[in-house]
Amino acid sequence: MRIDVVTLFPGIFSGPLQESILHLAQTRGLVEIRVVNLREFAEGRHRVTDDYPFGGGGGMILKPEPLFRAVETLRGPGARVILLCPQGRAFTQAVAQELAKAEHLILLAGRYEGVDERVREALVDDEVSIGDYVLTGGELPALVVMDAVVRLLPGVLGDATAPARDSFAGGLLDYPQYTRPAEFRGLRVPEVLLSGDHRRIAAWRRVRALWRTVERRPDLLRHADLTEEEQRLIDEFRRGGRPPEP
Ligand code: SAM
Repeated sequence: MRIDVVTLFPGIFSGPLQESILHLAQTRGLVEIRVVNLREFAEGRHRVTDDYPFGGGGGMILKPEPLFRAVETLRGPGARVILLCPQGRAFTQAVAQELAKAEHLILLAGRYEGVDERVREALVDDEVSIGDYVLTGGELPALVVMDAVVRLLPGVLGDATAPARDSFAGGLLDYPQYTRPAEFRGLRVPEVLLSGDHRRIAAWRRVRALWRTVERRPDLLRHADLTEEEQRLIDEFRRGGRPPEP
């Protein structure tokens, strides 16, 4: 996969792209990430990238010409152009999975009051929001999207089955996790996890994932693949029931 991110502030990316999974994926040749300075596509001595809004009002708007020029230079067959934007569709694990299938992503990071509407109308394929809040720029959202997408690419994570167990896969939150010591300040790890009985452990984890999802994110259950028995258990949890002790 190739990811180009177009930004007025390339320095924001240097730390995150040089650490951990995003860095490893690049050094292993599993993804090529390029940070492209929008200013390079602006014309004139001052390379102006923003201007006042027509109709008045405060703030500046990113001009269309540099963004169009940048995308037209970078775009090849199979590229998807995505504007990071609080008005876009919600970025979820399902969207990350969808984007992970693309050959080439071009991420456009907005700034100031946003981008000229013609960028939306005639340049981008998609608009993505990382949540219902407004950030100063699209750089952090672009990093969020890159991180979520890159960890799904084949070969990136040491354990290829990990994403299938993470929260949101299969419409559930993850089950509670513990590590050593088995007892810490009087808090004990559930006995079943120390039993070595993989069937019981899997059953316990599934029930805990269901309970946690009912408690915290019942909206997710609409997309969960559940057996009749699990559905019955969920109804019980909704009425205030607790998971049976194994
Ligand atoms: N005036 C715009 C609005 O209300 O929709 C907000 C502009 S915001 C200050 C500047 C840029 O930050 C946006 O163009 C976008 O690229 C990025 N941005 C801010 N919040 C975001 C979010 N929740 N998701 C994705 N991008 C966001």
